[in-house]
Order: sequence, then C-alpha cells, then structure tokens
Amino acid sequence: MNQADTEIITSLLEDEGYVMTESDDSADLVILNTCAVRENAVEKIMNMLDNLRGKRRLRPDMLIGVIGCVPQYYREKMFSMTDGIDFLAGPDTYRQLPLLIENAEQGIRGANLAFSPEETYDGIEPARTGSISAFVPVMRGCNNRCAFCVVPFTRGKERSRPMKSVIDEVEQLAAKGYREITLLGQNVNSYFDHGAGCGFAELLERAARAARDVRIRFTTSHPKDISETLARAIAAHANICNTVHLPVQSGSTRMLKLMNRGHSREEYLEKIAMIRRSVPGVTISTDLIAGFCGETEEDHQDTLSLMEEVRFDFSYMFYYSVRPGTYAAKNLPDDVPEEVKKRRLEEIIALQNRISGERHAAEIGNLLEVLAESESKRSREMLMGRTCTNRVVVFDRDGNEPGGLVAVRITSSTSATLIGRPE
Ligand code: SAM
Ligand code: SF4
Repeated sequence: MNQADTEIITSLLEDEGYVMTESDDSADLVILNTCAVRENAVEKIMNMLDNLRGKRRLRPDMLIGVIGCVPQYYREKMFSMTDGIDFLAGPDTYRQLPLLIENAEQGIRGANLAFSPEETYDGIEPARTGSISAFVPVMRGCNNRCAFCVVPFTRGKERSRPMKSVIDEVEQLAAKGYREITLLGQNVNSYFDHGAGCGFAELLERAARAARDVRIRFTTSHPKDISETLARAIAAHANICNTVHLPVQSGSTRMLKLMNRGHSREEYLEKIAMIRRSVPGVTISTDLIAGFCGETEEDHQDTLSLMEEVRFDFSYMFYYSVRPGTYAAKNLPDDVPEEVKKRRLEEIIALQNRISGERHAAEIGNLLEVLAESESKRSREMLMGRTCTNRVVVFDRDGNEPGGLVAVRITSSTSATLIGRPE
C-alpha cells in the first residue's frame, strides 16, 4: 500500500516540476513514506532520520519530510522533534504536499494530519517505476477493529474508489503493455461502489474482462468476509490468479476472539475448504502473529497445528508488538516474554519453511507458466518470475526477456524458490 502511495505522491510532485533522484545523496528534498504497523518499522524510520540529519549537517538546504502512518500515529512525538523534520503529512493529505514543501522552503515548518473520509486519490495517475506489474488501489482505510492493529487509527475509515475509474485505469494499464495488475485494499472484500452497486467480486470480474491478457491479482482478503461468490469469480476467469492471501494471525479460537478477528479456527478452516473446492490448484498464503497477549503454549500449538492442517504455501510471520492506542494496548497485558515470542516465531518460521519446501519439491518435473519479472539477482543469464499461483521461479534466460510469459520445466527447488529451464 505504501509503495502504491509513493507512486501517487511521485506523480503529484512531478506535476509540480520535481524530479526523482537516484539516491538521497543528490536530493534537495527527501520524503520518508512510513509504516506504523509494527514497532520495528518505527525504529527503522528513526534510524533513517538520524542518518539524514547527519547528511543535512553537510548540506543545510536539504529538506526532510516524514509522511504516512508514523506521523499520523505519533503526531506529538514527531511535532516535538524540532531538529530535522521540515514537514509532516498523513495518508489522507498528500495533495497538500506541494504547499507543505513550498512553506518549508521558506522556513515554515508545517504538518497536515487531517483525515478525509472521501480521499481516494482518484484521478491521479500514479508514477509507476516498473513496466510489467502495477498496483491499483481500489479502497483505502479499514472499518475493522483488530485488537492489535493501528491501521484504522492511521488510515481512517474505509472508502472505495468508483468502479468506473478503477476499470478505466485497468484498461489503460493493459493498453500500455502491463502484464500483471494487483488490486489493493486493507480488506478488499469490503469494497463497494454505492453509485454503481458494485462489490469486490464484480469489480474483480470486470477488471479481468477489461484486461484479458493481463494477470489480475488482489490483496488483502479478510477471512470473515471472503465469499463463495469471490472464489467463483477467481475460478471463472483464466487471467485471475489462482492465489489467495488470507491472514489468519492465530490457530487458536481463544486468541482469535481476543484479537477481535470475527471468526473461529473452524470457520477459517471452512473458508479454506470452500476456496479449495471452488478454485482447483489455488495457493493460499497467510499472516501469523506469535505471542499475542495471553497466548499460552497450547494456543501456540494450535497455530502450529493449523499450519500443518492448511499447509500454507507462504506466510508473513511476525511476533506481536504493542501499538499504543489500540484495544490490546489499552485492555490486554502484553504478558508473553520477548524470548518466548521469539522462540514461538522461530518455530512458526521453521514449520513454514518445511511446508513451503515440501510444496515446492512437489512441483519438480512440472511445466509451469512463468511471467518473467527481472534478471535474477545472482546472474544476468537467469531470469526471476512468478507463476500465477505466486510461486517464485528462477530459470535459465535462454533469450527470454522480462515481461514475457515463459513455459518453465522445474528441475529443483528450495523452500523459497523453484528453479528450472524454459522448454
Ligand atoms: N488487513 C489485513 C488483514 O486484516 O488481514 C492485514 C493488514 S496489516 C497492515 C498486515 C499484518 O501485519 C497483519 O495481518 C498482522 O499479521 C501484522 N500486524 C499488524 N499489527 C501487528 C502488531 N501489533 N504486531 C505484530 N504484527 C502485526
Ligand atoms: Fe488491521 Fe484488522 Fe483492518 Fe487488517 S482488518 S487492517 S489487521 S484492523
């Protein structure tokens, strides 16, 4: 979401005549677009700010802005940092950036952290850096109240872009030659264009029809809201990728209740069964949190057993960090010791690596269609790409170029990657 926002901000600033530099060493203006979801994200920003302040001692004219969820969330702390920050902007006020920068150039420090329940940045064509894959935000904000999560506090209430403007953008991207489009939202299942009476499943189908040669992906679905209608829409269109990201956070119904996720372990498993029934060959990924408030060893074992039962293809795995202001911070003691959180997270990671490794090994010998994205990091003679099920494949280049669809025979694998050669 932040990457998509950065493309919107870049577009807004390019319209004002600003030009992107290769690195902050040659920049007159540095903007940090920040994330507050986990504690270490905030620490990272603080370290980057220290580093930038050092650079500014050598180049006093350089302006520094901090935008996004961190200033929205830590407004007092940020305001009190008199040294080093010239302006602050929250996720709903990026249209004000030119004004904030202009003021900063005249020595006037400013901040705009207002929420706008209507702002979707509709009508701004993002300045995309890549030419193969594109993000298309379809909604902003979140109306859920998961006990651990800052998003509702930093990104405000849910709002959807008009269906027509999303589909127009999808058509334009297809015409420009993009090969893959990801529709983005914190909870895409809640997408609704009231004027057009269009929900997310219909939006997805319309996008698939508007760009038949383009792979269509979407993220993120919420388990309590994902419907059979959506699963059928995925199955009905060859260009909608057969992969669903469905964050579960914990395998324990008791924890899910404390987290206010709105579903039990059993209901999650029913959703997984429904998706697998409706979309043959679908891959499923998830998000997991280790060591949430009150998590016992038994709850943790429930997470491990759920992972064994679902056999996720991929997971984003975190240990819980308290986010001030959230329901959990106010009402639930953060009582799992750090070393226990870390040990549980390591067990979760080890299990996921094993399962991913086994799933990948089962692909050896298969011929898979891969969208080549870039040269592999290791060699120009290899390309990196993804299957429509979101598996990462590294393969011999054999004259292929990024952007092409390549039939690749899988010859070996690791827990993270499939390796193969074109056929
Ligand atoms: N909207 C998505 C959903 O509900 O599934 C997730 C959005 S959240 C920005 C991304 C992930 O960060 C969550 O699924 C959760 O696993 C993780 N996360 C959020 N708050 C966290 C916290 N306080 N500590 C650790 N992980 C957290
Ligand atoms: Fe956060 Fe829950 Fe909303 Fe996801 S659904 S963004 S975890 S509050």
